[in-house]
Amino acid sequence: MTTTSIPTAPLGTLDEPRLLTAGPQARLAEHLSAFGPLPKATKDRWILAEWKLSNLAGRGGGAFPTSQKIAAVLRSVARTGRAPVVIGNGSEGEPLSHKDRMMLTHAPHLVLDGLALTARIIGANESYLVAEAVDHPLLKQALAERGDTQVELHASEDHFLAGQATAVLSSLEGGASLPQNPRWHLSDLGLGGAPTLLLNVETLAHLALIARYSAMWFRTVGTNKDPGSRLLTVHDQGQYQVVEVHGGCTLDLVLDQLGINPHSAQAVLVGGFHGTWSRNLSTRLVTDINKYPGTETMAAGAGVIELLPHGNCPLVRTAEIVNYLAKSSAGQCGPCVHGLPTLARDMHALATLSEDFELPERIARLSSLVTGRGACHHPDATARLALSSLQIFDDELTAHLNGTCLHTSEMHS
Ligand code: SF4
Repeated sequence: MTTTSIPTAPLGTLDEPRLLTAGPQARLAEHLSAFGPLPKATKDRWILAEWKLSNLAGRGGGAFPTSQKIAAVLRSVARTGRAPVVIGNGSEGEPLSHKDRMMLTHAPHLVLDGLALTARIIGANESYLVAEAVDHPLLKQALAERGDTQVELHASEDHFLAGQATAVLSSLEGGASLPQNPRWHLSDLGLGGAPTLLLNVETLAHLALIARYSAMWFRTVGTNKDPGSRLLTVHDQGQYQVVEVHGGCTLDLVLDQLGINPHSAQAVLVGGFHGTWSRNLSTRLVTDINKYPGTETMAAGAGVIELLPHGNCPLVRTAEIVNYLAKSSAGQCGPCVHGLPTLARDMHALATLSEDFELPERIARLSSLVTGRGACHHPDATARLALSSLQIFDDELTAHLNGTCLHTSEMHS
């Protein structure tokens, strides 16, 4: 791959994929032929500086600046003298997300390069890869091809919250794969008390590319505020596609390039089950909406897009998701034990045309009561989704409160 020039094309899908350049199910020979070998250790200072210049944000959903995470671990190591640990996180608890599994099965060497590089640069003796796909033959084959016995594989549970950072740590320490009360930063007190760097597998793959081609190369796609590329899992009509897009891309252009008619959908759920609804199919998908004040932008989160076809009731779909999320909680904190089941019941009542005019106010009050009160952001994100459905689908809301639905193909019982 050669360095590309500043793009002039509109922001949509990438003409030339970056992360999947080596082709489907890439073996080591194809990977090396596409990307070349890992840079030597003599370049480590340069790589660290390039990672910072790239402004890469984490691709697991949190969008935290990756170089800040790395710097925090390095500071902790300098302060404590303890050897750090690096963890590649491919636990996709979100049922609609498939990008991390795709990375681990089609570009495993790029992820393993990122893991090896970060371990080398922060001085970690222990590396872990946590994912549901750790038993996948293509990943095992990749490790065998590299003769890599350093990376410890750990299977994550099939659970919505299994990918949350403290859930991954708990699972690695032999506990439940559920969020824990985060009293400390992982960079200070992570796995077994060691400074810990936990990065999403797509993030690791981007780090491996930046280490080879520079921050300037990384930034030649995307926008200044949302540089580089990212993977999206796009769901439409019961099918999904994983696609690499420009940072700051507009959704209608992505759909057009995927051959999906934007007019075939009435609304879009952006960011997956912890995301929000929009009727604007030309919305811009960004990492951090705060960087785009006053514009129509939505947070891509973990990169999940679900199109809602015409004829499907968005309130029914939201009630299904809120019910799933209420059942997915760890049941450790008040908002999840008491708040989310009630929220799910109220959303179900709204979806099933119960004609209770107090429901919207009850849902709004409950949403504000659960927000900010859990040990993790699960209740906040669940409430945000419920509220976004009430705000975006006001016509449907009025119809349901009057005992009818605008989308007749749905069952409302
Ligand atoms: S807020 Fe809910 S999901 Fe998060 S730790 Fe508490 S009980 Fe678990």
